Amino acid sequence: MSRLRELLNQFEEVANSPRKQLDKYLAEGKKVVGTVPVYTPEELIHSMGFVPFGVWGADVEIKDAKAYYPSFICSILQSILELGIHGAYRGLQAIVIPSLCDSLKSLGQNWKYAVKDDILFIPMTYPQNRENEVGRAFTKASYERVKADLENHLQGHFCDQQLQKSLDIYNEHNRLMRQLSLKLSEHDQITAYERRNIFKSAHFMLKEEHNELVAEFLKELDNLEKSTKKTRVITTGILADSPNLLAIFDDNNMTIVGDDIAHESRQYRTDAVNGETALDKLVDKFANMGCCSVLFDKDRKRADLIRDMAKERKADGVVVLMTKFCDPEEFDYVCIKNTLDEAGIANVITEIDRQMVNYEQTKTTLETFKEMLR
Ligand code: SF4
Repeated sequence: MSRLRELLNQFEEVANSPRKQLDKYLAEGKKVVGTVPVYTPEELIHSMGFVPFGVWGADVEIKDAKAYYPSFICSILQSILELGIHGAYRGLQAIVIPSLCDSLKSLGQNWKYAVKDDILFIPMTYPQNRENEVGRAFTKASYERVKADLENHLQGHFCDQQLQKSLDIYNEHNRLMRQLSLKLSEHDQITAYERRNIFKSAHFMLKEEHNELVAEFLKELDNLEKSTKKTRVITTGILADSPNLLAIFDDNNMTIVGDDIAHESRQYRTDAVNGETALDKLVDKFANMGCCSVLFDKDRKRADLIRDMAKERKADGVVVLMTKFCDPEEFDYVCIKNTLDEAGIANVITEIDRQMVNYEQTKTTLETFKEMLR
C-alpha cells in the first residue's frame, strides 16, 4: 500500500472514531477539554496542558435533547446535547462553549441540566465589535475568564511563554491546512470524502500530531501527478461532514477545490502573530478574523471571499450547504447569492441537517447543477 493511501486511511480512522481517539488521550493520562463551534481559544487550552477536542455533534437521531430544545434549533447543537446526555463525551474534564450565535448561548445552560457526567461548562463570551480597543479588551477579559476556570477547577497552569509555543504550533497548522486546501484543488484523485477526513481528523488530534501527518501527506501529494478532470466546486456553509452527502459529490464526479466551511477552512485563515504578549496575539487573532456568518461584518465580505476563491481556483460553481435552522448562515445567503450572480458564477443551495440519512433532495439538486455546468 502506498504511503499516501496509508495516511488517508489514518485520517479516516481518526475522523470516524472520535471516541477511540478520546480514550487514547485519556489512557495516556492527558486531560481533555471539549471545544464547541464555531471558534474557541484552543491555543490557550493547549498551552495549559490540555488536549482541545472538537465537539461538533454527530449524525444521530435526536430524542432526549428534544426535552431541552425546540425542534427549530440547529441539529449541531441538538446532537451535541443528545450525545452529552448519553455519555458520548464522558472523560472530558470541561467543555468550552462560545456565544457566537443565539442558539449557542443556550447550550451551556442546557448542558448543566441535561448532562449528568461531571463535565464543567466554561462559557467563552465574544464581543460583536471585535476590532476596536473596547472589543479587544472584552475578548482579553473573556480569555482571562477561561484561563481562570481552567486554573481554578482543573489545576491548569498558564504561562505566556508556553502560550507562545502553542501559537507556533497552531500557526503552523493553519499554514499546512491552507496549503492542503490549495494543493487538493489540483488533485481530484482525492475524493470529497477523503478531503473531509483530513479536515475532520484535525478536531480530534493534538495539532502537533496532525501537523506531522499533514506535512507528510503534502509531500506525498507532490509525488502524485496533478489531475483536474472533474467538475470543480467550492463549498460554503457550517458543515460538510456526512459521508452520504459527500458521496453525492463523488458519485457525480465533482471535486471540492476550495471551501468556506466553518468546520474546515474557516478555522485556518487567521494566524496569531501581532501583540506584545502571546495572549495579546491571541486577542489580535480574533480581532482580525472575519468572512464568517457568526462574526459581525456590516460589509459582508464573506461573499467577496467566496467569489474571489471561485475565480482563483477556477471553480465551475459554488455549492451552498445550508445547515437547517442556522440563522447566521441564512442571513448571509442573500448577499452570497447576489454577489455570485453578479459575477456570473453558477451557484446552488441545498439544505442539510445532522439528522438526515437520506439526501435524495440534495442528490437531485446536485445532479441538476452538474448538468447545468456542462
Ligand atoms: S452558527 Fe448555526 S450551525 Fe452553528 S451553532 Fe449557531 S445556529 Fe447552529
